[in-house]
Amino acid sequence: MRYISTRGAAPELPFDDTMLTGLARDGGLYVPAAIPQLTSAEIAALGGLSYEDLALRVMTPFIGDSFGESELTDLIARAYSGFDHVARAPLVQLDTNHFLLELFHGPTLAFKDFAMQLIGQLFQAVLARRGERVTIVGATSGDTGSAAIEAFRGLDNVDVFILFPHGRVSEVQRRQMTTPAEANVHALAVDGDFDDCQGALKAMFNDFAFRDEVRLAGVNSINWARVLAQVVYYFSSALSLGAPHRPVSFTVPTGNFGDIFAGHVARCMGLPIDRLVAATNQNDILHRCLSGQGYHKGQVVPSISPSMDIQVSSNFERALFDAYGRDGKAVAQLMEELSLGGFDVSQGALEYLREQFDSGRASEQETLATIRRVREESGELLCPHSAVGVKVAEELRDPDVPMITLATAHPAKFPDAVEQASGIRPPLPAHMQDLFERPERVTRIGNDLGALKAHIREHVQR
Ligand SMILES: *Cc1c(COP(=O)(O)O)cnc(C)c1O
Repeated sequence: MRYISTRGAAPELPFDDTMLTGLARDGGLYVPAAIPQLTSAEIAALGGLSYEDLALRVMTPFIGDSFGESELTDLIARAYSGFDHVARAPLVQLDTNHFLLELFHGPTLAFKDFAMQLIGQLFQAVLARRGERVTIVGATSGDTGSAAIEAFRGLDNVDVFILFPHGRVSEVQRRQMTTPAEANVHALAVDGDFDDCQGALKAMFNDFAFRDEVRLAGVNSINWARVLAQVVYYFSSALSLGAPHRPVSFTVPTGNFGDIFAGHVARCMGLPIDRLVAATNQNDILHRCLSGQGYHKGQVVPSISPSMDIQVSSNFERALFDAYGRDGKAVAQLMEELSLGGFDVSQGALEYLREQFDSGRASEQETLATIRRVREESGELLCPHSAVGVKVAEELRDPDVPMITLATAHPAKFPDAVEQASGIRPPLPAHMQDLFERPERVTRIGNDLGALKAHIREHVQR
């Protein structure tokens, strides 16, 4: 399996180099040259497998010979052993034909653990085999950073630096990033918003001298290996509800478009998915774009679902690549326009996008009301991101097709909003009970690329 860049001007790479590289050298994102296909009979044969066995079967065609079967089996087992639910991604029912896919049973209580725990294992295996080390730099609106730190803390061949917007992540998110004591973990609180952090990260990747000097590697949701790991739970949940004989729909609380793009990949592989719905909060650039209003950056407005507070949705580039007939030059042109403020989507591309994706948005008030009402109706306590999903799913769902809404975080990760909505302050799971007593270690730093690079240079272990 070979990977190509969405901007058409970077070398093709096998899976392992694609994973270590993150962002392509032409500024694009890597995608498979062709999506492996499963027949209906092959999908039916996946029913009843454990999550780990299913992960092996779904991911193997994308991984090629980068990992052997027994090695991959072993790495998958290790990745998910720290989850506190044996099903890994259990489904619960909210209403007739409406289900919640609980993706928050990993060590940092958000769906990002599914990809990050696996990537940690895969990175370690490749780097040990090659005798190399890398510097991982990530930008986070909260959950990516904690998941990355949890996955890479204490690993021999990796330094991990996480940029987060100072004062704009929840206290639980911040403490998950600032309390690990391992010397290879560096939490950086940047004076800016998430888009500033993501912008700095992109600029570091585009500075090839710096990139090569510190052997930069990226684990943001642009990393193809993360998207791939997330494809698995679309299969596991659809199979549980009768796929491939019965199509299902998904609603996905969306920010960077990584999670929902994994659903798109599952559909392209042959999984019968009826609707794929992107649910945004008040930062609704994706909803506006899919509604035909073009893709024009605004200001980020902080919300109670902070992990979706973004205006530049990096994985959307992968969807645009497909929408523009896999024309890298056309995508490069759009991204050039985006750097100046935005772009309009061509009629043909918009038709493709609207065939593939539906969208909706939830306001702050609607999100709070949904948390309260779902608690009363079903006893389920939703995090604010999941509530955005449930609200939009209820609005758009076809009563005859099972709808699966992704619950992307545990309510205890966002206790203030949940308490405001429901009057209930959700307790942290037992393994995190002492989070508020652990000492914090963090560097506050200006929104200044030079200062960030200098800090990283100074602190990498060589
Ligand atoms: C990251 C995150 C999202 C958004 O996922 P994307 O892949 O960026 O679209 C939604 N909810 C939570 C809790 C998250 O951590």
